[in-house]
Amino acid sequence: MRVAIVGGGPAGLYSAIAIKQRLPSSHIKIYEARNESANEFGLGYTLQTLTIDLLNRIDPSALDNMFSTKRPPLMQQSSVRVNDRFETRAFEPGYTVSRYQLIQYLRTKALGLGVKVIHKKIEIKDVSRLKRMNNLLISADGVKSLVRMRYKDAFSAKFHPTKMMFSWFLNESPFDQHQPRFWAVSSDYGVIQMFSYPLLDCRQIVIVEMTKDCYQKAGFGDKTTEEVTAFLNKCLNVSADPISLAQGPLPWVSFGINTVEKLYRGNVALVGESAFSFHYSYGGGLSTAFMMGYILAECLSALPLNEALIKYNAGASLSLADPVRKSRELILWLEGIDEHFKCTPTKELVDHYLLRQNYRTSSKVLSGDS
Ligand SMILES: Cc1cc2nc3c(=O)[nH]c(=O)nc-3n(C[C@H](O)[C@H](O)[C@H](O)COP(=O)(O)OP(=O)(O)OC[C@H]3O[C@@H](n4cnc5c(N)ncnc54)[C@H](O)[C@@H]3O)c2cc1C
Repeated sequence: MRVAIVGGGPAGLYSAIAIKQRLPSSHIKIYEARNESANEFGLGYTLQTLTIDLLNRIDPSALDNMFSTKRPPLMQQSSVRVNDRFETRAFEPGYTVSRYQLIQYLRTKALGLGVKVIHKKIEIKDVSRLKRMNNLLISADGVKSLVRMRYKDAFSAKFHPTKMMFSWFLNESPFDQHQPRFWAVSSDYGVIQMFSYPLLDCRQIVIVEMTKDCYQKAGFGDKTTEEVTAFLNKCLNVSADPISLAQGPLPWVSFGINTVEKLYRGNVALVGESAFSFHYSYGGGLSTAFMMGYILAECLSALPLNEALIKYNAGASLSLADPVRKSRELILWLEGIDEHFKCTPTKELVDHYLLRQNYRTSSKVLSGDS
């Protein structure tokens, strides 16, 4: 079987590995443009139970191979903050991996199995040719997928813009910090949220998010990077848990999500964010990308192509229904966060805030002070 995959991110590489392991005689080519995804810019992922399980299915020593020199700090507790209220909550154990590390690992594994990776940006005009020349074309080119765009109507593909804006930072505070943070603080302009994950002992990946309304009122669009960073540091810093943000390499991004009603059309199948994207604090992006690749490979190894794609569509849609619904609920709640913070007592807010992110945190309170 000849397979072309557009996009060598987590979804494309994982799918290639899972298919090649089951169908060793298949010829798989991945076309990767580099830096065509907002996910490219130094971002990290949290690996928790489901993602680790899916990685172990393609490589039982995945974590040892990925972190061959040193494992990053194990996350087991999270710091939750709503204004002046702090709590420590249990966190499903996991690790942060940088995008670079994860891609290097998956790419090495794919190349080792005989998958070809070609550095080429696919243009919309190339898509029909790839479809024609291969038994299967897999769309793994992320949230702005060209393949998805080319067959938009057949997939009933929709893009849902949201009212949220985010950007990446690094916290370079010189103190050891091994807990992920889920923080939300009221400012004069609206609620500023901060999610952080430890990458090294004294370095965390930080995502700062707010509504567009808050972003505009704070005038972030007209401020220099230094001014924005100074404002955020002042807003978020507390002596008990010092924050020292440095701006990451990406500008502020307006957050939107993809959905589809169908995961294939003819011999074209969608995996990862080209099909569905999730709010990052829900934490389901990587696991669903891997899960789709895994289900697709299982179906292809058991059935003729047409039947395999029908089964893939049914199986993956079923598995995705719950994460899609929960991520959507989370986004709706976040879009109204400024209002929620005005109307809800802080103690209740902590639970409201975390309820939406239950995937990663637990309702178990380990300690708290108000
Ligand atoms: C701020 C943020 C934080 C996140 N944190 C987490 C987290 O902690 N845990 C989690 O599970 N998920 C997280 N996610 C979601 C996660 O990033 C995605 O679910 C995951 O990267 C999707 O993988 P993908 O391969 O589908 O798409 P991508 O990662 O976007 O990869 C697509 C690939 O296709 C390539 N490409 C694009 N266009 C073309 C073209 N025309 N030709 C050739 N190649 C092309 C790109 O260069 C890229 O390599 C986060 C997302 C964001 C935005």
